[in-house]
Amino acid sequence: MTGDIITYDYFGSLYINMTNRCDSHCVFCIRDQEDSALGGLWLQEEPTREAVLEEILGQDLGGYEEIVFCGYGEPTCRADDMFWICDQLKASGRDDLPPIRLNTNGHGSLINHRDITPELAGRLDAVSVSLNGSNKEEYLRLTRPGAGEAAWEGMLDFIRTATQHVPRVVVTIVDYDKTPEEIEACRRLAEEQAMKRGIGFLLLTVGLVCLLAGCQGKDLTAQAEKELGLDLSGGTVVTQSDTHSGNGDGLSVLVLRWEEETLEQQLAADARWQPLPGDLLCQTLFWGVSDETSRIGPFFQDNEGGIEIPPVTQGYWLVLDRHSQAKEGEDPEELLHRYSYNCTAALYDTAQRTLYVCRLDT
Ligand code: SF4
Repeated sequence: MTGDIITYDYFGSLYINMTNRCDSHCVFCIRDQEDSALGGLWLQEEPTREAVLEEILGQDLGGYEEIVFCGYGEPTCRADDMFWICDQLKASGRDDLPPIRLNTNGHGSLINHRDITPELAGRLDAVSVSLNGSNKEEYLRLTRPGAGEAAWEGMLDFIRTATQHVPRVVVTIVDYDKTPEEIEACRRLAEEQAMKRGIGFLLLTVGLVCLLAGCQGKDLTAQAEKELGLDLSGGTVVTQSDTHSGNGDGLSVLVLRWEEETLEQQLAADARWQPLPGDLLCQTLFWGVSDETSRIGPFFQDNEGGIEIPPVTQGYWLVLDRHSQAKEGEDPEELLHRYSYNCTAALYDTAQRTLYVCRLDT
């Protein structure tokens, strides 16, 4: 069944769907999937900007992390309407208005035949640009833009100029069929664009965070003992790695194994540890979750220092949210909705007597 869905709740943010149009034809685009996967996002008719504004303002905005101009197609195909809506929202005086973000393929200036990045200023609080390729050939193969090669340079230029006008620019890739080397190349390319402007920003993939290489050698077992409040002395280190760099960002992974079930007794006696199977937060962090349109997680599996955690059905898990925005008593899933992560997640596999401790800081 199809219907015109203009706004929808996605992972705690309010997503805005104003158009099906796009200047590209990405090989992974969900617009090309069967009707059943469209879920009503395919618009029979583009809503007027007034209708979009009315629908947004009709909601309790305080419950959302962000308002996101996203899809179904490319939102900058309606850049002028989007800017008008942003202006109206900012002028509405609503004290529950969350930050506004644009998810874009970065072709907005090409599509509108002018540099639209200055017009983002004061309207968009953040912009996420899809990079999707570490070089022109790969980018064109995956995204198949109507403008051809001009789209590659246009997208890179959009990233560079957007950083002058928007407080936060995030570059994303869809982890469609990329090797770790290709993901690393994307990360480097994003950094180069940032460095050309002297501005830092994050490179995030869908469900995969690319991390800077960093110093090694911390005593991860001692750190885990202190942080988790456990006696880990009986465990043998199976593997450990740490990419935390001088700025504190990075991922550390520690895997310990026991010959006897000594750790299980400690975990069973500690109310912070929950028995498996874990809830959505646990599933997302350790193994990732998908719906018909997207995927988020796993968080601790990347091309550098990460680990693929095998399915675990029996055991315990614990997540410590160390983020400065974390509040006592809030829903633990809030950590999934932040721009950055500071968390420690631990998982104990009873059958294998194996403990995984992952510490992520971005
Ligand atoms: S840019 Fe987005 S909407 Fe356009 S074809 Fe690619 S995935 Fe689809």
